[in-house]
Amino acid sequence: MDISVIVPLFNEAESLPELAAWIKRVMAENGFSYEIIFVDDGSTDGSLDVIKRLAKENPAIRAVSFSRNYGKSPALNTGFQRARGEVVITMDADLQDSPDEIPELYRMITSEGYDLVSGWKKKRYDPLSKTLPTKLFNATARRVSGINNLHDFNCGLKAYRKDVVKRIEVYGDMHRYIPYLAKNAGFTKIGEKVVHHQARKYGKTKFGLDRFVNGYLDLATLWFQSRFGIKPMHIFGLLGSLMFVIGFLAVVTTLTLKIISMCSEGYNFYITKSVYFYLSLAFMVLGVQFFCTGFIGELITRNSAERNNYLISEEF
Ligand code: UDP
Ligand code: MG
Repeated sequence: MDISVIVPLFNEAESLPELAAWIKRVMAENGFSYEIIFVDDGSTDGSLDVIKRLAKENPAIRAVSFSRNYGKSPALNTGFQRARGEVVITMDADLQDSPDEIPELYRMITSEGYDLVSGWKKKRYDPLSKTLPTKLFNATARRVSGINNLHDFNCGLKAYRKDVVKRIEVYGDMHRYIPYLAKNAGFTKIGEKVVHHQARKYGKTKFGLDRFVNGYLDLATLWFQSRFGIKPMHIFGLLGSLMFVIGFLAVVTTLTLKIISMCSEGYNFYITKSVYFYLSLAFMVLGVQFFCTGFIGELITRNSAERNNYLISEEF
């Protein structure tokens, strides 16, 4: 099978017939063998009934339906697990992404050797409240991830080589950072294609302003995971040692001052009134805590199934 199209959807009943027909037309025109996997993320507007009706007319349509709303990332991950095509394409259900982009995305993966091609909504048809923070978000994501050629991390329209989707795990709200996940999994040929974008035709957006707060927190998590995920002691041990040393120096200072004050007349040094005393307390306790966190981190890593999972490009 050439292509699996994965469509995560949450209450998009009005858009689905148009989308399914459009994808079918593009596939037929280009002679692709394909499947469409609709992942219904707990819709309550009858989207599933619409999909059932569509599936009767088109045997290429498959569907998974969650019993409640889990989010776009879980929906994508579920679709990834089920995909059978050599190239996997994800697209939003709201008709903002155009199926006409599919043939070129397919070509970039199969002929140009890209692992992942992300859409770039160069001209966006979204309100300013969304496009402006998105610019900032993308600039940060580029810097942190080191994938400098991507302008639009969170574009719903993306194409992947099958291996990629089978090796990455998208969870929480991590769909915003799939290129970063792919890079961390060892897939480095990541490209971009300018794609046509449309205003939402039916329904309304499913993401509010909390997307930006959560987005930044997730980015911090991913950065941490990629740097220290399999060697947590390298960061916690370093911080713990530094704090311990500072605390120890403060202890030495406190004791020295006390001894001096005991030996000299006219100079009274009260330990509990000294800033060094409090510094020594705080830093020694924090230092030990960081160290212990590092040890616990190492124990957890040791138990992780991922710890010796490498992507090998060649072997003789
Ligand atoms: N979506 C989903 N589960 C959710 C929220 C969204 O499957 O909990 C789907 C939604 O139906 C759409 C896609 O994710 O197909 C993108 O959502 P939306 O268009 O609301 O995002 P925006 O384009 O505003 O960024
Ligand atoms: Mg949308």
